Amino acid sequence: MSLSKETYRNPNQCSPGYMNPEMLTRRIKLWDINAHITCRLCEGYLIDATTVTECLHTFCRSCLVKYLEENNTCPTCRIVIHQSHPLQYIGHDRTMQDIVYKLVPGLQEAEMKKQREFYQRLGLEVPGDAKGELCNTKLHLDGQHNGDVKPEDGANKESPEDKQEEDNDYHRSDEQVSICLECNSSKLRGLKRKWIRCSAQATVLHLKKFIAKKLNLTSFNELDILCNEEILGKDHTLKFVVVTRWRFKKSPLLLHYRPKMDLL
Ligand SMILES: [Zn+2]
Ligand SMILES: [Zn+2]
Repeated sequence: MSLSKETYRNPNQCSPGYMNPEMLTRRIKLWDINAHITCRLCEGYLIDATTVTECLHTFCRSCLVKYLEENNTCPTCRIVIHQSHPLQYIGHDRTMQDIVYKLVPGLQEAEMKKQREFYQRLGLEVPGDAKGELCNTKLHLDGQHNGDVKPEDGANKESPEDKQEEDNDYHRSDEQVSICLECNSSKLRGLKRKWIRCSAQATVLHLKKFIAKKLNLTSFNELDILCNEEILGKDHTLKFVVVTRWRFKKSPLLLHYRPKMDLL
């Protein structure tokens, strides 16, 4: 494949000592990192990269969704994603998709072209995101929507064991994540203390409940929480959010909240 001759310059690879401009970048053959940016199911480059919340393995969205129609385990590590609703425990991985598009020359353009042709062939209007924008927002929003169809799952997720565990040390020994919660709507007030630290196992739903309580809202359902201007699914753990949206950024993880808006 001709793509393998392409190289990747890592601008962060600094050399200690003297500053030879040649030393500031390190060339890596695309071939060497291919394994990390390809989908195990189709063996192509990741398209609409989608990550399993539980084990953080990544696949193309369409490959994974199709696979999970017949299975409930991760194709890579075989962990059970969820007994009955595995599709609710996978999420769009923007960081990974951005990396893949940056590393593989022409891939994004080719994918957008394919999508445009697909819609045109069916005589459908080309969605805004296939007109040449980054990432496939439509599929992503559909994913979010799926998450909303069965609210009982996330809302009553506390099994007896979870409860027990919580009673022991309130997740203080978990990996912790630092968050800054900013309000980005004039209709809600800001939090008095917007910097918080909590377990990386906490979910977006937990944060919604926390904010709703602090602001005396009648329901946490009135809120959306966003990261990089993208609405977060309520079942995502903060660990998942950090890994897929904040991997190369400085702590704290910056999240925004605002009144819920209908996506349709
Ligand atoms: Zn695939
Ligand atoms: Zn896995």
